[in-house]
Amino acid sequence: MPLLIDTDLQAAVEDAAAHLYVWALKDIPQDLRDALKAAAARETSVPGQRVLNTILKNVEVADGENNLVCQDTGIAVYTCRVGEHFPLHPARIYEALRDGTARATIEHPLRSNAVHTITRENTGPNIGYRLPIVHWEFIKDWDGLDVKCVPKGSGSENMSFLKMCVPADGVTGIKKFVLESIVGAGGKPCPPGIVGVGIGGSADYAMYLAKEAIARPIGTRNSDPIVAELEDELMGLLNETGIGPMGLGGDVTVLNCHIEHADTHMTLNPVAVNYQCWAARRASAHIAADGTTDFDREA
Ligand code: SF4
Repeated sequence: MPLLIDTDLQAAVEDAAAHLYVWALKDIPQDLRDALKAAAARETSVPGQRVLNTILKNVEVADGENNLVCQDTGIAVYTCRVGEHFPLHPARIYEALRDGTARATIEHPLRSNAVHTITRENTGPNIGYRLPIVHWEFIKDWDGLDVKCVPKGSGSENMSFLKMCVPADGVTGIKKFVLESIVGAGGKPCPPGIVGVGIGGSADYAMYLAKEAIARPIGTRNSDPIVAELEDELMGLLNETGIGPMGLGGDVTVLNCHIEHADTHMTLNPVAVNYQCWAARRASAHIAADGTTDFDREA
């Protein structure tokens, strides 16, 4: 592959990342707007209604002023679906995502949140050792690249939980842990948001699945009907907790509950919970092998 083509394609991926990070922070997807409006319409508690109306006003002001929906620019998390024939190596894709993240942070400018985990010193414009975070999936018989950017605020990311249930705990143990986690979190993760649940696999993979779950369009259902039924049940149970918007009490504690699952070892039953706050930001780009880029706010 000639270097010139690699360089052009790398620049296209970098441009896409720079645009996605800022775009996701400013222009939230339509399904989230609809879910927040529906939540405001069905909330019956006065403080809950006040919070939801303030959130809707916040979104309106951000639109009107072309500004961020929340000051916390999060950590940039990208999910890449890479076609096996996409003519740019993942090492270069990572470099482009990192450079795009830094550029967006400097050019906008955005708040830079990245610090060394021990010294707490800033490590750069939302980049650092192993930052941004990139999840990879490889697709056979394809030459494209899909990139989704999910800026993850710390208030909700701090409310992440993992439990290695035992098989005897069964689905009841999974439900109990999800409910305990969300009740324990209360108003800290800026509810109402999306509760992502990862079940099966291993300890690390369950948390990865929970993160995948929060990045889905709101209200989409797992393709496995047994898991989809559990999503509906958990969503109902979570909204019966009474935690409500921002933990002030009410009917709407979560906008939805999404579950991703993997098969697991016969003696394992891992369950992970990852919360995504009301500012459930995400934006995607589809990049063709020639660098042509289509942006997609709804994917
Ligand atoms: S948790 Fe979400 S809404 Fe709350 S401050 Fe962080 S990014 Fe903003």
